[in-house]
Amino acid sequence: MGGQGKNSTAFEEAKKIILDSAARLDGETVELMESLGRVLTRDVAAPWNLPRFATSAMDGFAVRAEDCNAGLTLPVIEFVPAGAWPTKTVEKGTAARIMTGAPVSEGADSVLPFEDATAEGETVRANGAVKPGQNVRRPGEDAQAGEVVLGAGRLIRAEEINLLATCGKTQVEVVRRPRVAILSTGDELVTLGETPVKAQIVNSNAYSLAAAVRALGAEPVMLGIARDTLESHREKISEGLKCDVLITSAGVSVGDKDFVRRVLEEMGVRIQFERVRVRPGKAMAFGKLGTKLVFGLPGNPVSSMLSFTEFAAPSLRKMMGVASPRDQMFEAELCHEVKKKSDLTFFLRVKLEMSEGRWLASNSGVQETGRVRTLVEADAVAVLPEGVEHFAIGARVPVHWLG
Ligand code: AMP
Ligand code: MG
Repeated sequence: MGGQGKNSTAFEEAKKIILDSAARLDGETVELMESLGRVLTRDVAAPWNLPRFATSAMDGFAVRAEDCNAGLTLPVIEFVPAGAWPTKTVEKGTAARIMTGAPVSEGADSVLPFEDATAEGETVRANGAVKPGQNVRRPGEDAQAGEVVLGAGRLIRAEEINLLATCGKTQVEVVRRPRVAILSTGDELVTLGETPVKAQIVNSNAYSLAAAVRALGAEPVMLGIARDTLESHREKISEGLKCDVLITSAGVSVGDKDFVRRVLEEMGVRIQFERVRVRPGKAMAFGKLGTKLVFGLPGNPVSSMLSFTEFAAPSLRKMMGVASPRDQMFEAELCHEVKKKSDLTFFLRVKLEMSEGRWLASNSGVQETGRVRTLVEADAVAVLPEGVEHFAIGARVPVHWLG
């Protein structure tokens, strides 16, 4: 059976149906470090001025600019290291020795760096002009107390973690992680750690899918293997439907023992489509049960991974509150000719190389669905659209990074 056919859904349409079905999950309060890679559900305001006090940006002397510019030699009245609080006011004609990060003494308006100063005994003189305010970080110059510094919807990276810690936030409220059940189906599968014999193969999809789920910041729930019986499928699928998302692999096409779709429907899952005009991965079902999403992915490891990347990953990002959940596409030039069927979208596994400011895409290996290594060697996927059959060398095609 071909990827084409009256009952199949176009790539973009399938993507849209899935994304429209996904909604942001609710928030939960977590320890600061647990917020990495997640999205804020509330605005965060600075609890105090940032910085809290006038701070020296250099090692040097707290001075009054006008004294320096008058050419005065200034007695040094005290030493203020970082962490100390000045005990003396810098009166007209005096200076304090000060270190980076220390509070600037009352009365001083500028910091004269060591390299611009001549220090002799307990005195100091400026070598050149001093700009009032130089090397002083004003209180609240980064943010005023009460000002929103990170808005709801913000993705937390290491940079945001710094700002949150600066604000003393031990905990923050972020979108909770979707729990994603992962279920493999098939009598040929053995669990990792068992040695496959005769016609058995290792259940590799469970691990690659769980890894992909975890890499996105969601929480995989491993359900193991459903055997090729209705009873086994019923038991495992009902377990999986307790999670936010259920991802199955294999058993979703028209084989004699493909029970996934039947059991999903029995349990009330409304199937939105079951074939997509893509290759690899045409036999893919998508369904909904209330707000829960169900992906019936193909069994072939390359197909299941690509289907996850193209279809499931954007919806998981949306559930986690990511504002632009789709893959970031950019253009690359093909290094060789590609022919494909016109009536399907083809996912070409490619290596990318930058040359004279342009990305060049070349095959990462034989584009046969059975070739896992072609996927492993790929940096990116070129999404070759429906309606086009032939791509010449140098054709510009949309690509996105893998992993
Ligand atoms: P199916 O969708 O059941 O026709 O399976 C398609 C292909 O994927 C067959 O070659 C299966 O052996 C293989 N396959 C199915 N499930 C898995 C799995 N969990 N891990 C690795 N390969 C699988
Ligand atoms: Mg099977």
